[in-house]
Amino acid sequence: MAWFKRERKPMAPPADKQVRVPEGLWIKCPGCSTIIYTKDLAASLHVCPRCTHHFRVSAVERLRMLFDAAWEEHDRDLASTDPLEFVDTKPYKDRLAAAQKATGLKDAVICATGCIDGIETEVAAMEYAFIGGSMGVVVGEKITRAVERALDHRRPVVIVSCSGGARMMEGTLSLLQMAKISAALARLDRAGLPFISVLTDPTTGGVTASFAMLGDVILAEPKALIGFAGPRVIEQTIRQKLPEGFQRSEFLLAKGMVDAIVERPHLKATIAQALRFMTPAPAGPSPGGGNGAAA
Ligand SMILES: [Zn+2]
Repeated sequence: MAWFKRERKPMAPPADKQVRVPEGLWIKCPGCSTIIYTKDLAASLHVCPRCTHHFRVSAVERLRMLFDAAWEEHDRDLASTDPLEFVDTKPYKDRLAAAQKATGLKDAVICATGCIDGIETEVAAMEYAFIGGSMGVVVGEKITRAVERALDHRRPVVIVSCSGGARMMEGTLSLLQMAKISAALARLDRAGLPFISVLTDPTTGGVTASFAMLGDVILAEPKALIGFAGPRVIEQTIRQKLPEGFQRSEFLLAKGMVDAIVERPHLKATIAQALRFMTPAPAGPSPGGGNGAAA
């Protein structure tokens, strides 16, 4: 184990601001218990090289994986005003402040415009590290605006879900976002613009119950937890044992709830292919002589 000690030595005096470094040099795969060097893991898109376990990735990493190059972020400074002045074990204001400090984001989604294999697309990527990726007023508003931007510029929409559901600290206001985003997506549908929903581990609660399941194409990462209520709640309600693999991507694919399970290295190419299939070719001089000659 000498190699292991050698690698650890330079880490001894951790810089005061880099809190995550000492614990993050090596990581144990929950799928196969292999110890993986984190830099190797990042190079493999956070997929275990041995068992293909998909580690959770941040919203920024997700955008980096999907976009060809730099992207333009929108509504970065929208932040919750804590409309209910909610307090549980601690004030919601404090939770927000802690999450903002930990993630560098103002809320649990990043919305951006960029190119996916050359196709200009509006992408919303949810950030699980921000209060469980929960959907409050800000997430709802940002995603709605992303859809409206897509309508204005006639671009497709891709939403990458990673969320525990609606944000309870915003009560009914968070539930209203389900209807708001769904209504915007209905307008996108009427305009004939595609929406691809990507479900990652986990996609649950009000997110599953609204936009995540409204995709023209619904893709899922392998073994992602996808459901509405948790298995324990369901078992207690229906008083039955749930089947093996219940609420995982593979189970949902078998039941027709998702269209495909796509491993992360193929995700971008699959999305681009689907977008090309669903988007009409740009108007130009067509060999068949289109409407151009019509009086
Ligand atoms: Zn593994």
